[in-house]
Amino acid sequence: MINRHLLPNEIDLLVDGDVGFGVAPLRAHVRQCPECQAKVDEARVIVDALEELPHFAPSSLFADRVMQQVHVFEPWHVAARNSALRLVPRSTPARIAAAAMGVAATTVLAVASLWIAMRLDLLTMFSGTAVQRGREIVASAIEVLVGAAFGAAALSLVHAMGAVGLILATVLLAVAAIGAVMGVRRLATASSRRAGGQ
Ligand SMILES: [Zn+2]
Repeated sequence: MINRHLLPNEIDLLVDGDVGFGVAPLRAHVRQCPECQAKVDEARVIVDALEELPHFAPSSLFADRVMQQVHVFEPWHVAARNSALRLVPRSTPARIAAAAMGVAATTVLAVASLWIAMRLDLLTMFSGTAVQRGREIVASAIEVLVGAAFGAAALSLVHAMGAVGLILATVLLAVAAIGAVMGVRRLATASSRRAGGQ
């Protein structure tokens, strides 16, 4: 038995039907005190009314709708990693196919580079042939003309053109290889979708 009125949290304990060590003196007080008894009864009515309210659940799209309006900051390396992961097919056969295609493309690229390098070597080796001599004559003629017309700067540009051609060929090959990989990846994705029935 306690000689004061109950505190709100003590009334809560009684309403919740708590059976703790300190609840017995609270009950004893309520039995003797009409004022606290009224408070407990009132709280019980409110709790019962709350229990009867329909239980609402948020729509399943609620989280998506909220996240659409949330601007999540994504560091560039995370974004790059995610886009790289998107390029990797999900199913194992498609992955194997893509990997095989990647190896094939790399091989083609390497062979093509080798071929270009060898051709350059051959050109240097057979510099005595008529074709090469013709080329040299034409080249020197161009050099003389360009040199006469535009000066030494333009001349070095003509020399640079040869290197640019080689770089251009390599870039074209790389683009072709990447295109092949992308195409096969798309094919693999499409076929895995058909197989998965998605
Ligand atoms: Zn009281």
